[in-house]
This record gives sequence, C-alpha cells and structure tokens, in this order.
Amino acid sequence: MSLIFALAGNQNSGKTTLFNKLTGSNQHVGNFPGVTIEKKEGIIKNHKEALLVDLPGIYSLSPYTMEEVVTRDFILKEKPDLIINIIDATNIERNLYLTLQLMELSIPMVIALNMMDEVIASGNSVDVIKLSNNLGIPVVPISASKNQGISELMDVIMKTAYEKRQPRKLDFCTGEVHKAIHSISHLIEDQAKKVAYPLRFAATKLVEGDEITIKELNISENQLHIINHVVEDMENALGTDKEAALADMRYSYIEKICAEAVVKHQETLEQIRSEKVDKILTHKYFGIPIFFGIMFLIFWITFGAVGAPLQEIFEEGIAVITELVSSLIIDAGVSEVIHSLVIDGIFAGVGSVLSFLPLIVILFFFLSLLEDSGYMARVAFVMDKALRKIGLSGRSFVPMLIGFGCSVPAIMATRTLSSERDRKMTIVLTPFMSCSAKLPIYGMITMAFFPNNAAIIMITLYFIGILVAILSGLLLKSTVFKGNPVPFVMELPAYRIPSATSVVMHMYDKAMDFVKKAFTIIFIASIAIWFLQSFDWSFNLVDDSAKSVLASIGSLIAPIFKPLGFNDWRASTALITGLTAKEAVVSTLTVLTGAVSDVELSLILNGIFTPLSSYAFLVFTLLYMPCIAAFAATKRELGSFKYAIITAVYQTVTAYIVALVVYQIGTIII
Ligand code: GDP
Ligand code: MG
Repeated sequence: MSLIFALAGNQNSGKTTLFNKLTGSNQHVGNFPGVTIEKKEGIIKNHKEALLVDLPGIYSLSPYTMEEVVTRDFILKEKPDLIINIIDATNIERNLYLTLQLMELSIPMVIALNMMDEVIASGNSVDVIKLSNNLGIPVVPISASKNQGISELMDVIMKTAYEKRQPRKLDFCTGEVHKAIHSISHLIEDQAKKVAYPLRFAATKLVEGDEITIKELNISENQLHIINHVVEDMENALGTDKEAALADMRYSYIEKICAEAVVKHQETLEQIRSEKVDKILTHKYFGIPIFFGIMFLIFWITFGAVGAPLQEIFEEGIAVITELVSSLIIDAGVSEVIHSLVIDGIFAGVGSVLSFLPLIVILFFFLSLLEDSGYMARVAFVMDKALRKIGLSGRSFVPMLIGFGCSVPAIMATRTLSSERDRKMTIVLTPFMSCSAKLPIYGMITMAFFPNNAAIIMITLYFIGILVAILSGLLLKSTVFKGNPVPFVMELPAYRIPSATSVVMHMYDKAMDFVKKAFTIIFIASIAIWFLQSFDWSFNLVDDSAKSVLASIGSLIAPIFKPLGFNDWRASTALITGLTAKEAVVSTLTVLTGAVSDVELSLILNGIFTPLSSYAFLVFTLLYMPCIAAFAATKRELGSFKYAIITAVYQTVTAYIVALVVYQIGTIII
C-alpha cells in the first residue's frame, strides 16, 4: 500500500455513498447525521495501491465533538497523501467552511462536488472551473448516488496524488485577523516545524486558543502571554471576539468565491419538498403524536400483522429440520446422550432463537427506512423540548432510537453528543430502550401466556422502557447529572427516498449479525446449559434436571425473585445466561424445559410463571443490565470500569423495583 487518501466532508454530504462507490464495499449509508462514527477503510477499486479512509462527518476542525477529534487526529498524525473533500453542491457555502480549514493543512486535495444531479434538476448551476481557480484546488462535479463523474474524479485524484500537488496557499485573511495570524506564525515557526504541524493551521488554531495545539506545539508560558496579547489587540480593534472574527473572515471569503461561481435561482426541488413535508411532520402539536403513531404502526406490523405469520413459518421449518436430524441420529444408532446434546441442547437452544429472525429483519427494515429517509433527524428535533424536561437534548434521542435495534451501536453513537454530561446520561439511559435481542423473549412468553394479545403486550413493554428512561432521567437530572443540556444544533437533512440497496444491505447486515450470534454465543451457551442441567456435581447423568448442577446454582438465587412472582431456578438461571446475550434467556428456558413442541413448552412455562409473574419477568428482562457486549461498550465509552459497574447495578436495581411494583400492584388488582 503506497497511497492513503482521506475522505472528509460535512455530515450528509454523501461521504459514505462515495466511499462505497470508490471501494466497491457496502458500508451502511444513512441520511442522518452521525452515522459514521469510527473511521472505516477500504482499498480503491482498480487502484490496489490506494487505501481510502472514510472519516466521520464534521463541520469544522475545532474539536467540539468526538468526530472532529477523530478526523483532526487522523489528518494531522497520519498525514494522508491526499484529502478528498466531498462537498454538498446544494449547500456550497456551509460546506466550504471546512474546506478552507482543510486547505491550511498543506496536504494535496481534490474537491468532489457531490449532489450535482439535484443542483441541475432545480435549474441552478455551479461554474466548476471558476470555483477551482478561485480555490486553487481541482474540483470535480459528481453525483455519488447516481454514479456520475466517479471515474473522472478518480483520474484527477490519482494525478494530484502522484504530482503531490499542494493546495495553493491562499492568504485570504485581511486586516486585523491577517496581522494576528502572521505575527503568531513568526512566533511559533520553529516549534511547528519540529512537530511537523502546518504553520498557518497552527497559527489560526492558536488565535482560537485551541488547547490541543498549545500542547502539541509545546507553547511556553511566555509565548502564550504574547499570543493572548496579540489576540486581545485583534479583538479590540475589530470589536468582536476571536471566534466571530475568524468565522467572519472565512465566510466573507466564501461569499466572494460563491458570488462568482454559484448560480442559485431557487432552492432545489428536494429542499422545497422537504419544507412542505416538515410543515406536518415537525408540527408544534402534531409532531410528537405523529411520531408515536408511526412507532406504534411499526411495532404492530413487526410483531403482529406481518412478523407473526412469517415467524410461524420459520418455526415450522426449524421443527422439520430438527425432526430430520433427530431421526438420522437415532437411525445411526448413536448413544442417547449425544442425541440429547444435539437435539435438546443445540437444536432446541439455537433453533428457539433463530426462529425470531423474521421479526428482527422486519424491525431493522423500518429502522433503516426511518434513518435513510431523514425522518430520524426530525424526531430528534420534535423530541428536543420534551427531552429537555428530563435533562437531555434532542440529540440524545438519536442513540436511544438506535437502541431499539441494539445497545452497542447506540452507546457508541453517543459520541456524537458534544457535552460530556449529556453523553454519560444518555449511555446510562439507552439500555432501557428495548433492543431487538429482547424480542425473542417477549415472543416466547406472550406465546405461552398472552397468545391473543401478543402485539399489545409487546408494545406496552416498549413503552415501559421509554417511561422508565424518562423517570430515570428526571431522577438523574436532579442528583448525579446536575446542569443543563447543551443547546440543540443539528442540521435537518433533506428528505430523500431511501435507496433500496442501502435498506436491503442494512437488513442483510443485521440478519447476519443475528445469525452469527445464534451460532456462536447462543450455540456455546446452549451446550453449556445442556451439560450443567444433565449432570450433577459428581458428573453423573441425572434423570431429573432439578437435581443437576445448574439447578443447585439457580436455586441459590431464585429466592431473590420471589417478591417478583417467579421463584424458580430455571427462570433465575435464564436471567444469568441472558447476560451473555439476551436471546440466551430463550434458549436457556427452552433447553431447561426440555420441551419438544410449542404446546409442551407453554405447559411447562405455565408451571414456572403465572401470567402476571411472566409479565413481571418480561419487565425485569427489559430493564436489567444489558448483555456483556453492551456492558463492554459502556465501559469503553464511560472510560471507567467502576462507572460501568455502577451503571449496571443501577439498571438492575431499577429493573427489580419496576418489576416488583408491576407484580405487587398486579396482585392487588387481580
Ligand atoms: P454521509 O453522512 O456524508 O456519509 O452521507 P451518506 O453517504 O450517508 O448520504 C446521505 C444521503 O445523501 C443519502 O440519503 C444518500 O442516498 C444521498 N446522496 C448521496 N449522494 C447523492 C447524490 O449524488 N445525489 C443525491 N440526490 N443524493 C445523494
Ligand atoms: Mg456516512
């Protein structure tokens, strides 16, 4: 590998789409700010020597958020051979703000002017040659999603990279800002050279008072003093603060460039359409009810109308295969213990989980529609006011919605929150959202106890999760996380019809994740459970699993759950194995009951739970500490094992209290 290219640009400029076109890989594309959090890499098609790195979307190089830190670190430390700066042509002015900063890094650069299809469709135009001349950087008009201009772009990229053509040094600062930047440049020239920092970039950052640059360049006390003085002089002379002065300088330069190169008669068709749709979907009073209506519909389709029949078909298929394998083993005359291990252990465990694949796929179909269409960003917007009441901002809603899919990416998505306080609080609350791994548990219990009201029972669980997050937020806001959420700034991307390939890819990814989990974690857990329930402490095969190793362990903890209505070692064992992955609750219960059919399973479950205690059990599994993977993510994002443990304890205690309340109140009513 001899060349490294970095793909940088604002959020929603089409970075991931272009990345996929250039590398032929299939990263998930989202019409939703903050989807790309970690940088992704791929080798460019037909150019084996070139590695492309997709960086998270950013607006500027000042590190206000984690994404900006990742991008900035990468560009400054890894020194890519070339930066591909992707720009949304329907929004040139705002996008160029980052471009001007990237240009200061003295790294060869090419601009990919994306979304040209929309510009042209709306009758606007961009004078690409003039724009390129004004900036001193090659500009290539493209449409990433329509696959237009990609090969031209690649030609220009390779040429620029081999020629190592630097962006022209633009001295676009004027007057007082110019004076400040240049006098600081002189002061720090040697230090910048020593750590190989681009001089102009360093000087500009020091005007901003950027801590990271001060540290990296080893700026002395004395120098800092002089710098502060220079900056103060500048602020006094201009009558504004330093941030405003720099922003003003950049924007007036951008305005000048665009006045010559961009012809804009009207908003693009997409923008006009989006405004119309937003009048309804982000309406002051209807916005939230519409959102809940949409979620209700999604859940109803997933669990009821479409999901349930599909799942039945799946279950039957698995039963047929199990039968087949079972008779094959018997015919082969293999020992009964092995037959039991394969059928009662592996097939029962993995099969019970696998049968929920259709529900998972449908759920992710809808989640990716929400995301790709641009609606998810609106939801964050309409929920902002409500979330503020519990001490969070609209941005926190994004991770929470992702949490309906899986807590791990949801917890990682909190990186897009700029305030540490908001971030931590969101990490604690997100696992209360009902993740898709809990679906099989709901499915199993509702089948046994509430076969006629399955969808309604599941929906109540989702809402209990949300309600507990709200109450929990109120509690945390007035205790551990005092303070105010940061103001909500998030750009609303234009609504776009989601591309079919993107949605299918997303569903496929999630389905594979699920299947993989079934054949790894669940597979191993099922075997382990089978062994522990088939043998006693002296390794004798037991005839009744109530005498097994597992029963003796499970019975130890079972009494803890007596107040919740389920004092049975099988239930408590399932809760423990559920920590490896929540689906393991289902595989464990299935293996432990040894049931061969749904009817038999229902019968045995009716011996473990009453309908009310089965519901308390569901509430507990919904809320107690998340699986190991999510716990690890929590630890990573909170940066401390201690706080991760405290979080898990908090979640488990909450689960216990809520399930207790549900069971006790239920007992009084019924
Ligand atoms: P990122 O946030 O920069 O990674 O942007 P994405 O690649 O996720 O794209 C954001 C949205 O813009 C998606 O809905 C894409 O389908 C859409 N998009 C990307 N490129 C184009 C383009 O050239 N034309 C149009 N009309 N839409 C595009
Ligand atoms: Mg992206």
